Amino acid sequence: MTATAAVLDVRNPRTGTADHSITVSSREEVAEKAAALRENQRGWEAMGVAGRCGVMARWLGVVKESALAIGEADAVDTGGCHTSYLQGFITCGNIGGWLEDAPKAFAALEWEGMSSAMPTVSVESQVVAYPVTGVISPWNAPLMLALLDAVPALFAGSAVLLKPSEVTPRVIEALFETVRKVPELAAVFDYVTGPGEVGQAVIAESDTICFTGSVPTGRKVAVACAERLIPCNLELGGKDPCIVTASADIDRATTSVLRGAVYATGQVCYSIERVYVHESIHDEFVAQLVDKAKAVRLNNENPRAGHIGPFTFAPQAEIVARHIADARAKGASVLTGGEIENIDGGLYLRPTVLTGVNHDMEIMQDETFGPCIPVMAYSTTQEAIRLANDTNFGLTASVIAGDAQEAKAIGKQLNAGGIFLQDTFLTFAKSRTFGTDSFGWSGYGAPRMGLESLRRFLRRKSLLTQTGDVADIQDDHHLGAPK
Ligand code: NDP
Repeated sequence: MTATAAVLDVRNPRTGTADHSITVSSREEVAEKAAALRENQRGWEAMGVAGRCGVMARWLGVVKESALAIGEADAVDTGGCHTSYLQGFITCGNIGGWLEDAPKAFAALEWEGMSSAMPTVSVESQVVAYPVTGVISPWNAPLMLALLDAVPALFAGSAVLLKPSEVTPRVIEALFETVRKVPELAAVFDYVTGPGEVGQAVIAESDTICFTGSVPTGRKVAVACAERLIPCNLELGGKDPCIVTASADIDRATTSVLRGAVYATGQVCYSIERVYVHESIHDEFVAQLVDKAKAVRLNNENPRAGHIGPFTFAPQAEIVARHIADARAKGASVLTGGEIENIDGGLYLRPTVLTGVNHDMEIMQDETFGPCIPVMAYSTTQEAIRLANDTNFGLTASVIAGDAQEAKAIGKQLNAGGIFLQDTFLTFAKSRTFGTDSFGWSGYGAPRMGLESLRRFLRRKSLLTQTGDVADIQDDHHLGAPK
């Protein structure tokens, strides 16, 4: 840090005032931190997965003690609802899960045997970690989305340099109070602060990158990684559809769609952002959805009690307002919600149900990231599938039908990584079990969930030993030709 280091004010999403600040990390500071991590990573990797599990188990103990404080910081950063307060405990689940899974993932990657192509050659695989993993994370779910990548990277044997969003730094500061209590971990896990240029500096110093954020920034990250020829894993936006068929239970479908669309003020990458309902149940579906939407409460008086918090990032409210205005101007009806409310400095939007929408509207094409539920009628299943797939994105998609078989038949035709049947928002059901790829603009690189996600931080080497005779220059069987 230099005497002239820039300081950035941080807004509180509930009050609209700047009550916090961060110092922007200089390019030199980023380089120094990365160099220290690179040096310390050698010992971290040499510990082996069992040794690292021992350190991570101690960290888990510290995080448990601080889980409430971490949750409080997350709630201030995001203006979030009661689930913000769970973030410390969710972190414990993440670390605890990898304590069980990391040894299994390493065991699955190790291999020893004879070559099937050249039977006299034995093969032994060795996995080595990328020395420094750079993690660049967004303002929504700021702790969870930083740690979804950082925790497995650490278990894999990488050191991690994190660049959180400048919008939500408080929860990361609370997290690193726990990291500093475990010196072996603090030696290989560090963070830097500031805007996008600091993210670019992290890319310049890292050996592999995990980025979560928007499509435009993801493109810049991909280009910067390509210039350095380092791998990058991008988790980007979504415009996730839900198809509700004629045979669906309308009560079940409206409850699920509402939760999937407005949870965390709709600021979730896999929020439901478009709903296609069969024309035969459209009016009843909309009537029930509007009734339920009207019962949703803002949490301005008590963050732990209501359902919808303020927008975390003030400019997001402008994007959402623009999408609603564009839809209105093109003929949509707003049946409930629809106006951004400034309450004591916080910017809120009640669940906003729109009908009369079509694919010429921004609200059906671009990521809205707010509690909006545009509903469109369809007449045939093939039309619903075509509309759901008419998008640049492909993160998740949901189908709610009369039974699971009908839902599955439709789900198999949708272009998205996570297909949720008979409910929405099932992402965390797969988190420990398996990963999925993203379609279109929603992602790039290997899956971030499941055992296979550890592979993102590891390179595999093969040690090949000739146990038979050495071929002379006339023999071609060393090229795989039969003798
Ligand atoms: P941004 O793309 O704006 O920012 C993401 C991170 O990148 C922030 O830390 C940001 O810093 C940093 N950054 C900005 N510019 C650059 C740059 N040129 N080079 C390197 N880093 C840079 O995303 P948001 O923070 O707005 O997050 C919301 C987005 O994230 C939504 O599109 C959402 O869908 C997506 N997302 C995807 C998820 C997934 O798993 N697929 C999960 C959650 C969110 P700073 O903020 O300080 O400017």
